[in-house]
Amino acid sequence: MNIIIIGGGIIGLSAAYYIRKAGFEVTVIDRHDITEGCSFGNIGYISPSHFIPLATPGIIRQGMKWMMSSSSPFYIKPRLNVDLLRWGLHFKRSANASTVEKNAPHLNNLLQLSRSLMNDLKEDLDDFNLIEKGIFMLYKSAVTGRHEKELAQQAEVFGLKTVICNRQQVQDYEPETEVDVAGGVLYLDDCHVHPGKLMANLYAKLKSMGVSFVLGRGVSAFEKRGGRITAVQVGEQKIAADEIIVANGSWMPQIARLLGTQILLQPGKGYSMAFDNLKHNLNYPSILVDDRVATAPIDRWLRIGGTMELSGHSQTVLPKRVGAIYQAFKKYYPQLDLPLPDVTKAWYGYRPVSPDGMPYIGRHSRYRNLSFAGGHAMMGVSCAAGTGLLLSEMMRRQPTSISIEAFSPERF
Ligand SMILES: Cc1cc2nc3c(=O)[nH]c(=O)nc-3n(C[C@H](O)[C@H](O)[C@H](O)COP(=O)(O)OP(=O)(O)OC[C@H]3O[C@@H](n4cnc5c(N)ncnc54)[C@H](O)[C@@H]3O)c2cc1C
Repeated sequence: MNIIIIGGGIIGLSAAYYIRKAGFEVTVIDRHDITEGCSFGNIGYISPSHFIPLATPGIIRQGMKWMMSSSSPFYIKPRLNVDLLRWGLHFKRSANASTVEKNAPHLNNLLQLSRSLMNDLKEDLDDFNLIEKGIFMLYKSAVTGRHEKELAQQAEVFGLKTVICNRQQVQDYEPETEVDVAGGVLYLDDCHVHPGKLMANLYAKLKSMGVSFVLGRGVSAFEKRGGRITAVQVGEQKIAADEIIVANGSWMPQIARLLGTQILLQPGKGYSMAFDNLKHNLNYPSILVDDRVATAPIDRWLRIGGTMELSGHSQTVLPKRVGAIYQAFKKYYPQLDLPLPDVTKAWYGYRPVSPDGMPYIGRHSRYRNLSFAGGHAMMGVSCAAGTGLLLSEMMRRQPTSISIEAFSPERF
């Protein structure tokens, strides 16, 4: 069986890893060369703590407020676009307590499965700086503090270990610099990696395992017969396929359309900046909750990032929003000597964001050999290993390790 995976981001490569391990022939097609994109410059968290899907009650009101400020962490480029309107409608419908309550356990299962599988990858790949000390949620306001403590209680119900800290206790974890916060919650099951190294080492591993790669050209058409996709067109080349997995990140709706199906997804652009050779650095990664900024230290290196811009695949960098990430960092760590970055050169990537904040993992009824894997929004790295394992089980037509009903690509 030749299994074709369209997209060589972290989801496509993780799928290739588990499917190849299960004994199938695998071909990964990517229109670039697997050296750049959303899976490379992200923050690198593998965070079971993110079990609440993005579409939560109150988020629309908060989003409206943020829209009023040019330096806030959220922005929608106003435009008349049918896909965006449909996506927005479903987002609004999903942002309620009962949908969140229904979806959170499924997301928790996928996150915890993925977290436990990181041990496979750690053993099997060259070092990608897996740091297993946890991730802090830091807050400045009392309201956020109350909310974070409630979340920590929910996390404990899901089996996660948390440590609730006051200001001094947070400071005790950070010997090298002052932390200006009211308190924080440390999620001990969370960990972080260098995402660029994870991608490079996974890619190298797949080549050594005999996975084939067709790079530098995108998929432009499909050949179909008798309810099956029989071949994929890539430039002049036609590649025969027994199974097709669509895993091309925020561009999934385009491939879905070529196949006469529909996937609701918006690119959620985010920025990051990296700093090296820092004399003083953070000891723990942290989410600066009130400002929606994330930090990821590795030795003397530090990456910070944030913002969610729904502006399509726009390549414009908005300096005020990038600058706001740096300014937020300075509010929480006022003493840390972080050079002022050239905000116009910030890295950016497009998170694949579904309307309910749940990924798409599963077969599609339109063709007997079509599956989708993507839409993990800010959790692509966190959920990659589990997604890969589930796909390998689907390819073997075995029961899956966890229920995948909530991830159905046909749910909208
Ligand atoms: C600032 C920022 C911080 C983040 N931090 C984290 C984090 O800490 N933890 C976490 O879990 N997630 C994080 N994320 C989210 C994470 O990066 C994404 O969820 C993840 O990278 C998505 O992976 P993917 O494989 O689905 O898509 P991508 O990485 O976008 O890969 C899709 C691939 O498909 C290819 N492609 C597209 N169209 C075609 C076509 N027609 N034919 C062939 N190939 C095609 C593209 O070239 C690309 O290589 C962050 C994102 C951002 C922007």
